[in-house]
Amino acid sequence: MADFDRRTALKGGLTVSAVGLLGTQMVSAATAAPAVQEPQIHGTAAWSARPPNGSIVVENHKPTYIVVHHTVDPGNVTDYTLEHAFWASRAIQNFHMDTRGWVDSGQQFTNSRGGHITEGRHRSLDVLRGGTRHVQGANVGNNNSTCIGIENEGLYSTEDVTPALWDSLVKMVAYIASQYGIAPEFIKGHRDFNSTECPGTVLYNRLPELRTAVGTLLGSASSRADLTEWPLLKPGDTGPRVRMAQEFLRERGFAVPVDGVFGPSTKDAVAAVAARNGLMRDACGATAATDETGFLGSDVWPLIVRPGTDLHALKAQLVL
Ligand SMILES: [Zn+2]
Repeated sequence: MADFDRRTALKGGLTVSAVGLLGTQMVSAATAAPAVQEPQIHGTAAWSARPPNGSIVVENHKPTYIVVHHTVDPGNVTDYTLEHAFWASRAIQNFHMDTRGWVDSGQQFTNSRGGHITEGRHRSLDVLRGGTRHVQGANVGNNNSTCIGIENEGLYSTEDVTPALWDSLVKMVAYIASQYGIAPEFIKGHRDFNSTECPGTVLYNRLPELRTAVGTLLGSASSRADLTEWPLLKPGDTGPRVRMAQEFLRERGFAVPVDGVFGPSTKDAVAAVAARNGLMRDACGATAATDETGFLGSDVWPLIVRPGTDLHALKAQLVL
């Protein structure tokens, strides 16, 4: 529809900037369009969830961000059945309650490799349908009051998601965005908040595509695909970004070498900064989480940069 209008406008001899103005008006008109249809979401009763062992907190406001995760465990299975999706939901809940000690599943929703969506934490679905409040989860450390999270089954550091998972992710994120009036640029990856690999580099790199796909379903213009985020550096990494981090750490009093190699002392220094500031990441994963101690990401960079630094300019520099 928008493409057709744009072509028509161009044929009519309007300038590009005039088309831009028309585009803005179309976005405004689209906000009154019918809401995105709710995808099939299987509630906690469907997968025989355990009752929560404490109170579920409902935030008295909408979430600001929709956050994409990968579960890591049970890996990239090829069982695409609904029964498996239910099993995985139970496994995650058991891990979060028994090992993490949380009241319930940490995430609000779960998406399987077969494309089946389940409710995670109790009440998440009903409260989402209301569109004005959201259930507080435990999936984005230090940011749980502003985030609603979807755990995507699998590990996407080097492998891509299944087409079915992608399709259901687009529909689910679009539905959440529609319910709360969240613009596509507020779709984030877990690593945009915490120093974690989650949701895996492959899935993380597809977030611009996800924002565009969701924008299409919302009937709004494509979102900015050039969002600048802090880079994630890990032990073993090398290069100028590591060197810059080491310079910052030295200025903070850590005796790390400035050699551009993310070695043990750099890892220890980053871990110390994280611990000192009470940074948490609310580990993803249905069973054992990978060790991400000393990862340097979005929550650590602002704590080590030189005071007075232009953060936007620095981020842009680090992305290169
Ligand atoms: Zn995560």
